[in-house]
Amino acid sequence: MAYDPNNIFAKILRGEIPCEKLYEDDETFVFMDIMPRADGHCLVIPKTPCRNMLDASDAQLAACLRTVRKMGHAVMKGLGAEGVTVQQFNEAVGGQEVFHLHYHILPRHDGVRLRP
Ligand code: ADP
Repeated sequence: MAYDPNNIFAKILRGEIPCEKLYEDDETFVFMDIMPRADGHCLVIPKTPCRNMLDASDAQLAACLRTVRKMGHAVMKGLGAEGVTVQQFNEAVGGQEVFHLHYHILPRHDGVRLRP
């Protein structure tokens, strides 16, 4: 499937709509999810166009997963999380709603459920 450059995360990357940025490097960008399912719920995305994981290059995957690991450590340290759920959806039937590759980082605490 083709990449749509007008998806909402592409607009965030171009600075056309605001976001709460947490981190960026040459290849990836991290910002808070607008409807957090856990305190500290954030999203890791590649800076280059990529529809989802099925469409990703090895370089995009490696860069995203390095940042996912980094953010995992950051939420453990910064928020005192005891674990992290990493979630990623591919295509509409797979649960994807925004068609720019993204990894959900969901900080977890014992006994605290994810919000719907
Ligand atoms: P799902 O909505 O089923 O989790 P996705 O994996 O495609 O599907 O997730 C899209 C995520 O993007 C949602 O968690 C949603 O809250 C988030 N989101 C949508 N618009 C924005 C925005 N403008 N800024 C930050 N996060 C957003």
